[in-house]
Amino acid sequence: MGHVDHGKTTLLDNLRSSSVASSEAGGITQHIGAFCVPLSMTSDSPSMPGNERLITFLDTPGHAAFSAMRARGASVTDIVVLVVAADDGVMPQTIEIMNLVKREQEASNIGMVVAINKVDKPEADVEKTKLALLSAGVPLEEGGGDVPCVTVSGLTGSGLPELVETIALVADVMDLRAERDCTPVGYVLESRMLKGFGPVATILMTRGTLSPGIPLLAGTSSCSSRRLLSPSLQPINLAAPGTPVLVTGWKTLPATGEEVLTGSETDIKKACANRERKRDLESALGDVEAINATRQAEKEREIANKAKRSTRGPRTVAEDSSVQDKKKYLRIVVKGDVSGSVEALVGAVKDIGNNLAGVKIVSIGVGDVSDSDVMMAKAADATIVAFSVGMPRTVRASASQNHVPIYTSDIIYRIIDDIRDRVISLLPCTY
Ligand code: GDP
Repeated sequence: MGHVDHGKTTLLDNLRSSSVASSEAGGITQHIGAFCVPLSMTSDSPSMPGNERLITFLDTPGHAAFSAMRARGASVTDIVVLVVAADDGVMPQTIEIMNLVKREQEASNIGMVVAINKVDKPEADVEKTKLALLSAGVPLEEGGGDVPCVTVSGLTGSGLPELVETIALVADVMDLRAERDCTPVGYVLESRMLKGFGPVATILMTRGTLSPGIPLLAGTSSCSSRRLLSPSLQPINLAAPGTPVLVTGWKTLPATGEEVLTGSETDIKKACANRERKRDLESALGDVEAINATRQAEKEREIANKAKRSTRGPRTVAEDSSVQDKKKYLRIVVKGDVSGSVEALVGAVKDIGNNLAGVKIVSIGVGDVSDSDVMMAKAADATIVAFSVGMPRTVRASASQNHVPIYTSDIIYRIIDDIRDRVISLLPCTY
């Protein structure tokens, strides 16, 4: 993770091409959202064949998968590599990511390595960047903390072996392990339609070992797990924990971040039907909530109008406190690109607030913001919160005509922070 243009893509491309070149012998490979780098590739002392250590890099764009999984209390990320360009230094997004990692660390064990990038550039200033990181609160080893720092160039490849070795060292210190011989559990990193294969999903197992033919369930999608494939679409017989694998045979596309479970064909069918029923029920409840919110808003307006009509002078203290007794809500209509990110967002914002102000989710949905979202928001006096989705011009115009506020961003934690600020602004003044 890192500030835009600080070189994440270049760094990953360099790591990926060297790992692909060695393991796939120049074959055409698919981008599957994750790839493995063998440690021996970068080390002077290669490990014994068959006993090779691999590091899996997740290169899923954005933080959607990361956030969707965290919202479910799970994670496939053991270590975050914070990329900071040495010519640009610590930038706003660098700080945001640091704060995000700090929040994640409170919930689970997540390690961190800093990669100071672009050191090949003449204007690179490694020492200045380190000082800025230290003063921004990153506990670098140089400052007596436990976060190692490596200088790299994604462009020339210098420092990449050291980066990989440092990650392995942090993994050793954290004593990261996974059980291989147990019921398999994993997560969906990415899913899409692949020509000639139909719906495919990149799965990362966190426990247990996956083999072809095991029926799988992810959300409300099921799969007879016909084949396990490598990024070059070669069949694989086993996927151990930590190894990303492309799985074919899905009936529908599973959402990013969904937990992948195994079971018998019959159990999975039953679970699927149950989950679908629950989803339908929740969507119906969402509609009821929207209607209730509309009624509540009308009632509040009525009370406010009455108060306006009946009071000649300034409001009394008693009246004021009775108004304050009522909890205020920021009502939101949530739209997102995939169900995983919508769930992540809802999970992260639904409990923001206290007994005086909070968030009320009017409806949730996947896909572009539509006219019916605008109408729903208008009826419920709500703000539309759109994460990584488009909005046709006509819909934008209709929202502005109807005075429906819309907040869009492709960065999930920006939205979360913004919602927190808006809820805070609903709080009554206490002076
Ligand atoms: P991202 O937005 O963090 O993914 O950044 P990119 O990987 O797209 O890089 C942004 C720009 O910085 C591109 O023009 C890269 O060629 C350049 N860049 C990335 N890494 C390096 C590096 O190590 N050295 C130099 N000189 N340029 C780099």
